[in-house]
Amino acid sequence: MMPGLPPSLRFVQRDWLSSNQVVGFDGGEAVVVDTGYVKHADLAVALMRRLLADAGGARLAGIVNTHLHSDHCGGNAALAHAFGCPIAIPQASAADVAAWDEAALGYSGTGQRCPPFRHGATLAPGDTLRLGGLAWQVLAAPGHDPRSLIFHCAHERLLISADALWEQGFGIIFPELDGDSGFAEQQAVLELIASLPVDVVLPGHGPAFTDVRGALARAFGRLAAMRADPPKHARHALKVLVKFLLLDIERIESTQLIERVRDATVMRAAAARAGMTYEAALAWAADELVTQGQLRRDGDWLLDH
Ligand SMILES: [Zn+2]
Repeated sequence: MMPGLPPSLRFVQRDWLSSNQVVGFDGGEAVVVDTGYVKHADLAVALMRRLLADAGGARLAGIVNTHLHSDHCGGNAALAHAFGCPIAIPQASAADVAAWDEAALGYSGTGQRCPPFRHGATLAPGDTLRLGGLAWQVLAAPGHDPRSLIFHCAHERLLISADALWEQGFGIIFPELDGDSGFAEQQAVLELIASLPVDVVLPGHGPAFTDVRGALARAFGRLAAMRADPPKHARHALKVLVKFLLLDIERIESTQLIERVRDATVMRAAAARAGMTYEAALAWAADELVTQGQLRRDGDWLLDH
């Protein structure tokens, strides 16, 4: 528990492959927000078992997703199976989940994996979420993902910010890679957050933080730089997506990279937006990541570590 967090809440900081998780306890029942990436779904189940045991044998009564990117709902199926709990998702994604449309959900377009799951309730902006015995206002957070939600608890001055605001930046603005509007929406979301009473932010990735003004200043600055140079944002997105792929698969022969993501339409769009052929863009992204020490090369192999 970090300072400033009510005892009914636990913030579980995961890594960049798996989103963080927030668990709320209320009268022997727990609800978890987001579940991480499928690769570490067993870990998500083990972490949950420990948290439930630490809480004196609480029961996991529900899963809630801020949005349905693979790193936020990849543990849904495993947790729902292990604990027999229902899954609440953003209403705007309900039809895609019901049809399990991997393209609409963004998995096939990014070369990412996510096991299918069934949803129960849906959440929409304006709803109130009960978590940890507290009332959280459900807010729309388009920009990173047009369907994403964030949760604000005015009483405790807490924000579950998903990928709309991290201590250092925010998630890729995916709609812009396809030529759709996202920067303006992200600007509005940051302005919305700036208008809320918030002392502690529980983000989707990275540590929880209290310097909300500082994080917002950095985020506004980054967003302004992206809007001024959309191809640069697209190049950044490509690097993030290639790094994410390697976090998942750990190693690949350089010549196989293009084969592995041949059908990844989101990555193709990013390459086009960056003004490069797909092959050149992938090679550039891999080289950059190696130069920055984010990936390693060993002969013909590209490795995560
Ligand atoms: Zn996301």
